[in-house]
Amino acid sequence: MKPFFQIQLALLLFIVLPYGANAQFKWPNGAKAAICMTYDDALDGQLNYAIPQLDSAGFKGTFFCTGSSPSLYRRLDEWRKAAANGHELGNHTLFHPCLRVKPNGTHSDWVKPEYDLQTYTFPQLLNELKTANTLLKAIDGKEARTYGYTCSDCTLGGGVSFTDSIKKLFTAARSDGQVPETMKGYDIYKTPSWGVNSNSAEEMIAYINKARDKGTIAVFMFHSVGGGYLNTTAEEHRKLVEYISKNRKDFYVATFQEVMNYIRDHSK
Ligand SMILES: [Zn+2]
Repeated sequence: MKPFFQIQLALLLFIVLPYGANAQFKWPNGAKAAICMTYDDALDGQLNYAIPQLDSAGFKGTFFCTGSSPSLYRRLDEWRKAAANGHELGNHTLFHPCLRVKPNGTHSDWVKPEYDLQTYTFPQLLNELKTANTLLKAIDGKEARTYGYTCSDCTLGGGVSFTDSIKKLFTAARSDGQVPETMKGYDIYKTPSWGVNSNSAEEMIAYINKARDKGTIAVFMFHSVGGGYLNTTAEEHRKLVEYISKNRKDFYVATFQEVMNYIRDHSK
């Protein structure tokens, strides 16, 4: 390349790069990344351990509640109190339908045939989601709602995506996937999240620090806390919350809905 063109290229990169892929998304209060602590299936351990730990640090979590959850029935007052204290109750269907066979061929044999998303129709799914919204409104009085895809499944039978069909019902939706490299093109209706399973606090801290390095977002998808399936021990959860609390100037920690609304309002 001739020196003249090298200089022109260097000038072009100097002008373009700050507005291109390397431009940092601006989080509130100078934070370097966002963190969403989300919890699925409305499980007792979330009331017993996760919420008290979040409360002690002043953080708000998001709880994607399955309508048929026994904990939601037995401890309804405690779920309602958590919502009144600023935690978010998200929609996670009524009956937790999932694909028994995913598009990549993996099997989830625990999914009962009657709750196989493969056999659901669009109207059936939408009615279930609307009814779950009604149930949650009866608990927390709210109409704006986010959705956590059950098993992160975004399709019905035949691989037909239902993401577009649910946009009227929800302000945002959580799926699964890696920490994004950039906030450019971030889809708030298919946000990546990490389904933790028996992970250490060190591993979870590495995950949020990856988001901090990239200037993007870390969304946790917890299930059981303090014992149960897809578990995080109460101790590891506590260490994670304490680490975030000690480094709170670096992180914008808020409910899934609040963070997604922020991204929606600050993305061009
Ligand atoms: Zn679930």
